[in-house]
Order: sequence, then structure tokens, then C-alpha cells
Amino acid sequence: MDGMVYGIDLGTTNSAIAVYEKDESRILKNMDGDEITPSVVFFTGLDSSGNDDSLVGIQAKNSAATAPEQVVQFIKRFMGFHGDAYNFTAPSGKTYTPEMISALILRKVCKDAEQYVGEGSVQNVVITVPAYFDDARRTATKQAGKIAGLNVLRVINEPTAAAIAFGLDINESGKVLVYDLGGGTFDVTIMDINDGNFDVVATGGDAQLGGVNFDQKVLALILRKLAEQGCEIDDEDDALMADIREKAEKTKLQLSNVETARPAFMVDGKTYRTEITREEFEKESEPLMQRTQFLLNEVMTAATLSWGEIDHLLVVGGSTRMPMVKKMLENLSGKEVVYKVDPDTAVARGAAIFASTLEGDSDGNASPGKELEPYSSISQKISISDVTSQSLGVVTLDGNNMNHHVNTVIIPNNTKIPTKKSVVVYTVTDNQTHIRVEVTEGNDPELEFVRVIGSSTLSIPPYPKDSPVEIIYAYDPDQTIYIEVIDKVTNISLGAFQIDRASNMTEEEVKNATSIVGQATVD
Ligand code: AMP
Repeated sequence: MDGMVYGIDLGTTNSAIAVYEKDESRILKNMDGDEITPSVVFFTGLDSSGNDDSLVGIQAKNSAATAPEQVVQFIKRFMGFHGDAYNFTAPSGKTYTPEMISALILRKVCKDAEQYVGEGSVQNVVITVPAYFDDARRTATKQAGKIAGLNVLRVINEPTAAAIAFGLDINESGKVLVYDLGGGTFDVTIMDINDGNFDVVATGGDAQLGGVNFDQKVLALILRKLAEQGCEIDDEDDALMADIREKAEKTKLQLSNVETARPAFMVDGKTYRTEITREEFEKESEPLMQRTQFLLNEVMTAATLSWGEIDHLLVVGGSTRMPMVKKMLENLSGKEVVYKVDPDTAVARGAAIFASTLEGDSDGNASPGKELEPYSSISQKISISDVTSQSLGVVTLDGNNMNHHVNTVIIPNNTKIPTKKSVVVYTVTDNQTHIRVEVTEGNDPELEFVRVIGSSTLSIPPYPKDSPVEIIYAYDPDQTIYIEVIDKVTNISLGAFQIDRASNMTEEEVKNATSIVGQATVD
């Protein structure tokens, strides 16, 4: 494999692509000359062959109010979710899954970048994901890349990427807390940066908390104020709601700079003026800020660190521009927030720096390379160690009550990856013919509080009751899960498998999706 490797931040609201060259990370701007491209797809119609025509980026975003039924946005929130509710039917009648919509965004970002680096040259990429993304969502992200025709060498965590940009570009060291509040996700990660080593100490977050939730708070305020003026909004009126939603986000952005915003609305031919203050917005958003604070404290506890031991508070993600974020963080920690990295581009740049340290092999697989050829001329050696964001377990019988199934954690969260751990379980009847492995995500012993993310049934030779079977779980550097089951009577493997993920596309579906996305026009 030849050529450069690129870092892509595939964001909920915006995406960006960067490259690391001549000891510098550089964003490749889009056709509009912007460093970030809105992650919005507008299906404009059909081309002469009956395939879908799409626009991605600012023009698509601007069309959200006028043609909401043709526009798809915030798709990352549904990455790795399966089912009709998450799919979009395009004008051609073809169905687009969240992976396919994301693939269109990737195609646009790469196509625009190629105006600087040459057509067809963006192939090998590292894509970032929220630290809190689980296995299914990481797999879905890789599939999106594949559908876009890319070779995804690795997926890495967004806060890790941001910390790399911070540590390498700014030459900082010490314990860094990364508070990443983007458009749709919230991550908090504590890293130890030392002489090119980036060690993640602990990570946590919420994949359903981000800027859009703050937009909804402004929206609620606006609707209340309109109602006070006797203006009731029909929330089934898609065009009107899209207009109000767009203005709600604009109001939120304004309130980061000014104390009062005055959005106006045209409803049934009449103009309504409203006034929203920063104070009102902050009060309305308190539950959201408290949620991030709660998660922050959890991660601090997991890292067994006190605020006095944190050297830098790094913020990334567009939503950290809200003054209430800085206020909360500084009150909580007694430290000053650093704004040394550009919150919009740090993730893509960090991904590009990381990508430049990867070494390819003939299968297109990559591992963090000690030898830095053939991709780049990075002069500083960096190494990265990350931790798992989710606990992985297996459904077992409760030792005290054989009618009760429980979750037995095999790999706890915040374990360094890659990792491999196992448990030994015992057959429950004489001459048992099968063993069923149900893989869980979550910490709680009770099954109602964890998620079964996949399962497999394997045959075993006939043995007496209580014969031992070892279940081995491994997390690869992408945090994808592999499982092997060993018959401990003979020490022979009963089978290794990547779990059947109910929420991911099958190989066949990915193949079909690649052809549909490949036929669509993306501008
Ligand atoms: P990201 O996914 O990191 O690009 O973050 C995008 C989110 O940041 C969106 O929800 C934006 O509304 C939000 N955002 C960007 N700039 C600001 C700002 N000045 N004040 C408040 N939120 C912002």
C-alpha cells in the first residue's frame, strides 16, 4: 500500500479532513474554502440514469428549512442503529442506512480534499469516533468508510485525537482532561501525555448528548415565548418547525457572544418577535450541564485523580464555546480552561498525526508502527495506548440460584487495549451438546440493565456435567470484539468468532450499499 494517510473527523454536525506533512498537521479545505463541512446530505433529485443526486455540506444545511423531507442531518446519532426507523428513502426509491448517508458525507469530504492532493489519492484513512461509541457503532463507522470506497486503517477516539493535536502541536505534557462536547455526543477523557506517549487513563461520556440538545432547550424557550404571545405552533408543520429549529441554533450561537438574542418568526403571515437571554438559556440547560458534570466526576473517580493532579483542561467540540461550559469547568476544577487548540479542527488534525505513524501491511491492516515508513516523515515518535469505553461480559447462571441468569463482566471498562481476558464456565447437564455465548455490554450484574449485543451457539463433545469451558474475549485496537471458546477438557478451540452484531450491516448488505452509494452523485 502506497500513499498518504488522512485523518477524518466524521462529526455529527460537521466533518473535516487533515493530513500530516513536513512535521505539521494541515486541514484540507473544502470546495467552499471552509475547514469544516456540515455533515448534512440533501437529496436533490435523480440524474439522467435514475440514480440519486446529492449535495453535501453548507448548501445542504441551508436547504434544511425549505426542503426538510429531502435533507438528512445528525445521522451520526444513529450510526450502528438498525431498522426502518433509522433509514432514509431517497428520491430513487433506494433505502439509505445511517452508514450509507455517512458514506456520502465521507465521499464529499474526500472528493473536496482531492483538489489539493490529486484525484483518487484519498484512500487510506483514519476515522475518529466518540470515545463512548460501542463496538457496533465503531463497526458501523468502518463500514461507512468501506461503502465510501475508503480503506479505513483504524478508528480512533476523538478526544485522543484532540489530545494528540494538543500534545504534539503545542508540545505539552502532563495529565490532560479532554472535555469534548460536539454536536451530538459528549466525551470526557483523561490522558497522560509524556514525551510522545499518549496514555488514556480513563474515559466516559454519553453518545446522545450534544449541541442538538442545547438547540432543543432554546427551541423550548422560543415555543414558550411564542405561546405567551398567543402563537401556538403546529409541530406537524415540518417547514415551520425546520425554520424555528434553524433559528434556535442561530440564537444559541449568538448567546455565546451576546447576553440577549432577539429571533423573529413569521407564522401564518404574521411576524412574532421574541427575546431570549443567556441567563434564561443557561437556566433551561442546567440539567444538561449537570449531566456532563456527573460524567466528568465519574471519569475522575475511575482515574483515581483529584483536580489538583490535572495539569491541563482541554476543550474540543463546537459546543464548548458556550460560556456556561467554561464557567462550570473552572468552578468545578479551580483551573483555567485552555483554548490552545481550535475546537473545530483539532480532532481531524490529531487523527492525521496518528495516521502518519501507522505502518501498512499488504492486507491493508495497520498497527501503530515503530518504523514510520512508508507513510510519512513524522520526526517525533509517538505511541498511544487507549482504554475500553464499555464493559464486556457474558450471560451466565447465578451460582446461588440456578434459575437466575446474570451478567459476568469479563473485560471491565477503562481496561487498556488491546486486551484479552477470559472466564471459565461449566456445563450444566451431562452430555450437553451445545454452549451458547451471549455477549453483554455494561457493568451491572442484572441483565435488565445491560445490553446483549450478540451471541453464538457452539457445539461441544459430550462430557459429564460441570466440565470446564473457557470463554476468551479480546478487544483489538479499534475496540472491536473477538471471542474464542476453548474446551478445557481437551484444550481444543470450539470456535472463534466475531459476534453476530444484530445492529450492523451484513457483508452482503455492505456490498449492495457500496454499489448504491457509488452510483449516487455527490457534490
Ligand atoms: P462539532 O460537532 O464539534 O462540530 O460541534 C458542533 C456543535 O457545536 C453544534 O451543535 C453547534 O451548534 C455548536 N456550536 C458551534 N459554535 C458554537 C458557539 N459559538 N456557541 C455554541 N455552540 C456552538
